[in-house]
Amino acid sequence: MISSVIFIIILAAGIYVFAKKVGVIRRNILLGKDIDRSDRKDERWKTMARVAMGQSKMSARPVAGLLHLFVYVGFILINIEVLEIILDGIFGTHRLFHSVLGDFYFMIINFFEVLAVLVIVGVTVFWIRRMVVKIPRFWSKEMKGWAKNDALYILYIEFVLMSALLIMNAADQVLMATPVDQLEAAGLSKYALGLDGKFAVSQFLTGLMPENLDALHYIERGAWWFHIIGIMLFLNYLPYSKHFHIILAFPNTFYAKLEPKTELNNLESVTKEVEMMFDPSADPYAAPPAGAEDAVPERFGAKDVQDLNWKQLMDSYTCTECGRCTSVCPANLTGKLLSPRKIMMDTRDRLEEVGQNIDKNGADYDDGKSLLNDYIKPEELWACTTCNACTEACPVLIDPASIIIDLRRYLVMEESQGPSELNAVYTNIENNGAPWQFAQADRLNWKDE
Ligand code: SF4
Ligand code: SF4
Repeated sequence: MISSVIFIIILAAGIYVFAKKVGVIRRNILLGKDIDRSDRKDERWKTMARVAMGQSKMSARPVAGLLHLFVYVGFILINIEVLEIILDGIFGTHRLFHSVLGDFYFMIINFFEVLAVLVIVGVTVFWIRRMVVKIPRFWSKEMKGWAKNDALYILYIEFVLMSALLIMNAADQVLMATPVDQLEAAGLSKYALGLDGKFAVSQFLTGLMPENLDALHYIERGAWWFHIIGIMLFLNYLPYSKHFHIILAFPNTFYAKLEPKTELNNLESVTKEVEMMFDPSADPYAAPPAGAEDAVPERFGAKDVQDLNWKQLMDSYTCTECGRCTSVCPANLTGKLLSPRKIMMDTRDRLEEVGQNIDKNGADYDDGKSLLNDYIKPEELWACTTCNACTEACPVLIDPASIIIDLRRYLVMEESQGPSELNAVYTNIENNGAPWQFAQADRLNWKDE
């Protein structure tokens, strides 16, 4: 009874703290401008099923893709066992699902144990790739400090959680194979489930288990509590980690851009201005409409995270920091300052900072900083060729180029800070209707040469 109460308190606290942080992330994402992604729902569901559930983009690198599939499938399916642990914890039962599934239950546990081993193999190889092979994209300059450690912490956590599961099953297996009269004499009759056979993997750990029933019971209960508390800690670690993509990959792929990658959106603020210029009845000196006297004019482009749209902000929280984008970016590959992964990491860091400012000082607080310049330098932005190779490579359909373009738009339209070569092009377009330095009347001169 007492253990059930303690369990319920831990579970409720874990879920409450997690839900609160998720609420903060949702609030932060909604600081972005609105964008309509409610069209073509069938296509969106299919994209989500293919990319988030089917991991289709991961197959571009088959070995890493297969290992990621082990970890992903293992982690999702093993959580069915966590559901049983939760119900056992609440009701004080032992392996509740056995009473419903009978011997089929043991087959499922065997399957979970194989998955747990695959997860352990997966995270071990991932660790070796990072720490021994030192694949360059995991060691580039933005992957220092927290970014590097976060990736490692999650590998350790998954390794330890899967190990605890196998240790729990090993101890439980010995208990369940103990004659019923001995279990009853030790007050452990709920372990008498009539296990006939051995678990697929944890049977190899039973040789490490003590013979004493009390000691076995302590190991089984210790691993059980360790596993569930570990999962609660893991759950609450997720929103602070790049591994939050486990959850956000689904909405992020659902709301991904369906238009061709290179298609640019028109800025509503610019469209309005142009429409007014072409409207002969428009009065450029007209007073603003009633109630909108104090309205701040909308920015052209983006200077800070609030100028981006909510999907771009969701992208930043979904980024797995895998570096696939940076590894194919022609600007990065030719030694320029630009890294699309850093663009996403900077956007998330700045958004977190803005969110914390709001929590501490209220919604109108201005810390005098911005995404542009304080996090991302113009030099990075102008290195982009807008080839969209980054978006194509991204396993969760993130669009770093759209953020780069919006920041550039701000630089050009609000600060007049384009590279000098581009300023000449803009002037030519304005004067000649083409990027070249020739008058429109001279366009066909080539035919006389
Ligand atoms: S669009 Fe820009 S950031 Fe993305 S890969 Fe091309 S050059 Fe790099
Ligand atoms: S944007 Fe996509 S490809 Fe780039 S690091 Fe993030 S998840 Fe990986």
